[in-house]
Amino acid sequence: MQVFTQKRNPITGSTEWDVQHEDYDYHREIARSAFADMLHDTERNQKYYRALKLAIDKQHSEGKKANVLDIGTGTGLLSIMAAQCGADSIVACEAFKPMAECCLKILEQNGVADKIIVIPKRSTDLTVGEDGDMKQRANILVTEVFDTELIGEGALSTFSHAHKHLLEQDCIVVPDSAVIYAQVVECSTLQKWNKLNDVVDDYSQVMLRTPQKMKDCAGSAAVHDIQLSQLPRTDFKEVSEPIPVFYYDWSGKTPIDMKRTVKQKFSITNTGHAQMVFMWWDLNMDTEGKIVLSCAPWWCHPDTNFSSERPQDTIPWRDHWMQAVYYLPIEIQVEKDAEVSLVSCQDEYSLWFYLEDENTKYKHHKRPICECGVHMTLSRTHVSYLNDTGRNSKLLRQLKNDVSSDTTLLSLNGSDLLVLAVAKSIKKVYVIENMSINIGILTDYIKENDLENVEIIPEATDAILNEVTNVFCNPNFSSAILPWENLKVAYLLYSYKEKLNANVSIIPDGCEFWGMPVEFQDLHKIRIPLNECEGIKMASFDSLVERSRTISDCELEAQPMWEYPCWSRGEPRRLLDVDLRALQPTAVADGVFSIVDNNDSSHTINGFAVWVVWRVGGANLSAGPLTPPTVGQRVTWDMHTRQAVKILQSSREVSGSAQWRYQIACDLRQGQFDIAIDWVQ
Ligand code: SAH
Ligand code: ZN
Repeated sequence: MQVFTQKRNPITGSTEWDVQHEDYDYHREIARSAFADMLHDTERNQKYYRALKLAIDKQHSEGKKANVLDIGTGTGLLSIMAAQCGADSIVACEAFKPMAECCLKILEQNGVADKIIVIPKRSTDLTVGEDGDMKQRANILVTEVFDTELIGEGALSTFSHAHKHLLEQDCIVVPDSAVIYAQVVECSTLQKWNKLNDVVDDYSQVMLRTPQKMKDCAGSAAVHDIQLSQLPRTDFKEVSEPIPVFYYDWSGKTPIDMKRTVKQKFSITNTGHAQMVFMWWDLNMDTEGKIVLSCAPWWCHPDTNFSSERPQDTIPWRDHWMQAVYYLPIEIQVEKDAEVSLVSCQDEYSLWFYLEDENTKYKHHKRPICECGVHMTLSRTHVSYLNDTGRNSKLLRQLKNDVSSDTTLLSLNGSDLLVLAVAKSIKKVYVIENMSINIGILTDYIKENDLENVEIIPEATDAILNEVTNVFCNPNFSSAILPWENLKVAYLLYSYKEKLNANVSIIPDGCEFWGMPVEFQDLHKIRIPLNECEGIKMASFDSLVERSRTISDCELEAQPMWEYPCWSRGEPRRLLDVDLRALQPTAVADGVFSIVDNNDSSHTINGFAVWVVWRVGGANLSAGPLTPPTVGQRVTWDMHTRQAVKILQSSREVSGSAQWRYQIACDLRQGQFDIAIDWVQ
């Protein structure tokens, strides 16, 4: 059924009514979930299988029946494996109803529906007894309810409850246990993701001071999950070994702590700045610790081939479990061999860390909460964008070039700091912003820097527009996710067009949308159909995902491409040009391009990348590749923005005459932007 729902239009900033499928939200969740990638994770699947087999054989060898409980069965994968391994009874529960329904179909299709009882409930709602969901307690638990932070999906309470109510005392649990590792590092690249720096000029002179409360803020409590193995090796320096900080006994032999704080002394391995903690975990799948699944980044991974040219590509790839970064509340300068203490804290769902040396001690080790506003309203990517000195320098150069002491400047983006950095040298600055939390941040900057001529306005009135001599828009709105959502600048300029003076100066000049066929090294695995997983037919799951993708319209999605290596598989092409100084109400563009130029070798193509390049004075600011891509080569992507990608349902071998096409329709009156990109079939 179709229903009216409210949806925010990121280009206009207003809330609009939209007709959507009544189950739009859950379809979106399915379409966007990491389910497919998790099922493509062969190492995970096979290690679960081997450990399950050991558990079932062990119960049998002791003359017992193997009664399996599978918590969070999803597609039913682990239950089907249990059936293949000869389990005597299997109960599978799944809290997410559409998945539970899908699971029933998959069991049917694989001829095991009579062997597995599926209960569409959260494990904590299961009942045991003659009339209960389970006739008896189980003596094997198999479950995979872990996320990048290990415990973020509620694993602690799931296991605790299961041991109390659903399992026999001497049961076997797959996995048996887990270890969380922390490594203290210096990484100026990632530090840019955490806190706003002062705005500086080309000679490192401070142009705008960041308020002290933002510098002192404990930061965001939300986990920063990241593909650490893609971080350039030269961008960070370890100052500690990996430290095992928390051990989790899933087997039920020792109780699970919902809250704990552990202080561990260690010696610094490298002189440097202790800025953050890299975190990952290992699962011990079996009771003897023979089958270990590690989420370590390549430099600490047990399976890395260090003699390879790209050692990061020699370990299993996965996106459903990455690594996490926790920023230390205070950066500490540390000397090699110094003794310091890592304080690791955990509550029911999350982790956080402190580092103490003889000069730095904390009165408490509470979970960090943002008190400055920045961490609540700006994404980490946006913070890193604002800290990107290279891009800032180009924007500032043009801005300084355009303004004088007579300038009245209108800034269209309230999450920009550059206009504040030049405010003192011009007459007046108006900043359009209406979100109170963003107004708070701007106000703090204004106070800290004694700016008396900056006014924050909810919208530009006719009188203000008439007064304005210069318009500046840092072309990255904190509300934008997909690249074209930054066309808010064009939407606003178009709506002001009649009211602005004819000779008003505008930065940027315009933008170009670019597209290119690519071969992802791994990213396609998050979306391509499974067909089969470990020999188990998964067609019902594929069609659920496909239907959800159609309903929730997730054709192109935003991804930080620097975390996902790919090769250019065709010349990048300019798809659309928007001239901000001569805006047209609508723009349509389409085109057909050949994949291979003067090259008849065949390639695999499994997606397209789309990005935007902003023109500022004579400079091009790419929110895509940092150097022009060469066909056949890896692409180096801007780390401070996300790009749009289309992941193809199946990869294609193409050669010679293959062609791709695109269509764009852009309406600045309505704030609409549509793009389609695909093969010429
Ligand atoms: N076992 C499957 C799916 C793992 S994903 C596999 O390994 O492929 C985890 C699933 O567990 C999700 O579908 C989630 O909805 C479900 N889940 C998490 N905690 C649960 C709980 N306590 N009870 C029931 N389902 C749970
Ligand atoms: Zn904060």
